Amino acid sequence: MSVNVRELLEKKCCNNIAACTDEQLYYGLLGLVKELAKEKESSNGRKKIYYISAEFLIGKLLSNNLINLGIYDEVASMLKQYGKDINLIEQVEPEPSLGNGGLGRLAACFLDSMASLGLNGDGIGLNYHFGLFLQTFENHMQKENKNPWMEKESWLTRTEVTYPVQFGGFTVQSRMYDLDVTGYDNRTNKLHLFDIETVDENLVGEGINFNKEDICKNLTLFLYPDDSDDAGRLLRVYQQYFMVSNAARLILQECRAKGCNLYDLPDYAAIQINDTHPSMVIPELIRLLMEQGIRMKDAIDIVSKTCAYTNHTILAEALEKWPVDYLNKAVPQLMPIIRELDTIVKEKYADKSVAIIDENNRVHMAHMDIHYGYSVNGVAYLHTEILKKNELNNFYKIYPQKFNNKTNGITFRRWLMHCNKGLSHYLDEIIGAGWRKNAEELEKLLAYADDAKVLQKLLDIKQENKRALAAYLKETQGVEIDENSIFDIQIKRLHEYKRQQMNALYVIHKYLEIKKGKKPATPVTVIFGAKAAPAYVIAKDIIHLILCLQEIINKDPQVSPYLKVVMVENYNVTKAEKLIPACDISQQISLASKEASGTGNMKFMLNGAVILGTMDGANVEIAELVGEENIYIFGESSDTVIEHYEKADYVSKKYYEEDEDIKEAVDFIVSDALLKVGQKENLERLYRELLNKDWFMTLLDYKDYAAKREECYKDYENRMVWAKKMLVNTAKAGFFSSDRTIAEYDKDIWKLGENQ
Ligand SMILES: *Cc1c(COP(=O)(O)O)cnc(C)c1O
Repeated sequence: MSVNVRELLEKKCCNNIAACTDEQLYYGLLGLVKELAKEKESSNGRKKIYYISAEFLIGKLLSNNLINLGIYDEVASMLKQYGKDINLIEQVEPEPSLGNGGLGRLAACFLDSMASLGLNGDGIGLNYHFGLFLQTFENHMQKENKNPWMEKESWLTRTEVTYPVQFGGFTVQSRMYDLDVTGYDNRTNKLHLFDIETVDENLVGEGINFNKEDICKNLTLFLYPDDSDDAGRLLRVYQQYFMVSNAARLILQECRAKGCNLYDLPDYAAIQINDTHPSMVIPELIRLLMEQGIRMKDAIDIVSKTCAYTNHTILAEALEKWPVDYLNKAVPQLMPIIRELDTIVKEKYADKSVAIIDENNRVHMAHMDIHYGYSVNGVAYLHTEILKKNELNNFYKIYPQKFNNKTNGITFRRWLMHCNKGLSHYLDEIIGAGWRKNAEELEKLLAYADDAKVLQKLLDIKQENKRALAAYLKETQGVEIDENSIFDIQIKRLHEYKRQQMNALYVIHKYLEIKKGKKPATPVTVIFGAKAAPAYVIAKDIIHLILCLQEIINKDPQVSPYLKVVMVENYNVTKAEKLIPACDISQQISLASKEASGTGNMKFMLNGAVILGTMDGANVEIAELVGEENIYIFGESSDTVIEHYEKADYVSKKYYEEDEDIKEAVDFIVSDALLKVGQKENLERLYRELLNKDWFMTLLDYKDYAAKREECYKDYENRMVWAKKMLVNTAKAGFFSSDRTIAEYDKDIWKLGENQ
């Protein structure tokens, strides 16, 4: 590294690093990083990929930027000379929560990989002032609070780019803010976040309540405001149109500046539509091209060669369908175009299931993307197969050539180099540092699969990470856990299909077993972390159950030496970075066919955790890579599950009545012991849900799950055999680098290389 970071930092910190507070050093480093990132901005090639997403769950940026600029170690040791700890300086940074979970985190990993591969590609999204809510627990319930993250001095840079964006009856003026996306030893790209200056943060009252009707004041206040009522849903439409209208103008402006005549737009731009939130970019681009005098037929043709769509889910409730009334009110200028797009489809295809506007006057956003985009991709092998064979089969029959799979990935810069420095340095030592640029080189580890010294060292590193997590949980939440226990972790958004409730039922079972005198060989610490959508009643009931179990179990002197439960407050990227390196067993237990890919599973395997999971999402590919010795698979297959749905023949009560263990665990939810600490209404509702509905078939898989989990715990007792599983998981994780995923997107969809 040619720059002298000490001198640069001194310039920013009045020449006296030792006398600076951590806060002053943080802002000093922030300024320094911004300066260095700027030097790496590339002159643009001809074609650019624009990744439009309603979410970018970027996490804290300081460390990752230092790593990607290649100066992390140098800065850390320089600070140490002055008695400063970079870890404490990092704590000053607020985490921007501009995403909900996997989808938003994926977008952030993709930006990192695009820059790291040297691709000309920017992200476009919204500058939410409060992002996702901050979660606290009160009376064993989730409470939502606002989560401010913007500061006077921050990673955001205000730009002079602004556009008037017209809604039905009024116009707002946008402003673009930029974040640098530093590539690993490569170029700097941008994440463009649009905002309006009239947003009024004082609109927010108790918790995260605010007036949803005052669009000029609330447009970019929150990520995905509560959509349980009309006003909330309408606000989402306003947000989505605001995002894509700005995106479309920016794209056209940049392309024109490069000499594009608009008819050749596909040679200058590829637009990736991340799930259906940005789908209105299609009619908006058509509208803007027509404003430039291009005939509609040509405009449709141009846009259809520019836009590509990624599908992230088969859950019906997540596939957006906006009522025509909403669009007429919020964005009346788009409706004539959407109607024309729909008419063209209806003239060609009699099949009603592929229409854009259905009989109930709802606009199916995904259908518009598929008809008028040139690529449709799923996010893991199994997911794409299910799209082709089931969910989108009618579209696949029309456009087989559009469908392709791009198995998700994660950036190893954040999810190994940054979050697990102990393991990273040890890998450098034994297999060389080549894996840092070429993730496939992790396979070199396999040569040490039977090397006792290496296996012991992997165990030591895991132990150190567990110790650090235990200290962190003590400090932040006041809970004490045994660092020598098994760390058995499930962290992800709370959703019934992810089946935290199944994990909780097992915890109940284990608790009752220990009370009866059957103690585990090694104590177990079951860790959860999850936010529930504010309006998702059953998800919040499940959180309530877990928090009640935590209370009862951890306070039971008979049981707590052998079993503990911890629900981590406000699960986010920063917490994930501490939890994942410390994990022994990773719970990936969604109902087969429901988890499109998962990326948490990849982070865990990379960090040497062993997965207990179903054959769902990318677990299928992980299982194939590591082999059945090195993953614990249970549960019914996706084919069987899909059949149960088709026949509507799953009856949870049958499983409850026919199995003593299941009955005992389910009944415990409404036992006196639980009702003493919890709320009757919530616990009874959850009990009834499991017994009478159980839409995601918890009881179907429970027995197999419990048996596999026991097998896991038993195998853990032979630590050397266990360490070999850890090693194989890390060694085989290379495929899940988002560098591989992005290289595939470029080769098959964006084709930037061919168009420079
Ligand atoms: C990776 C990640 C997710 C996605 O986890 P899944 O287990 O794939 O659902 C969600 N939230 C955060 C903070 C993450 O880092």
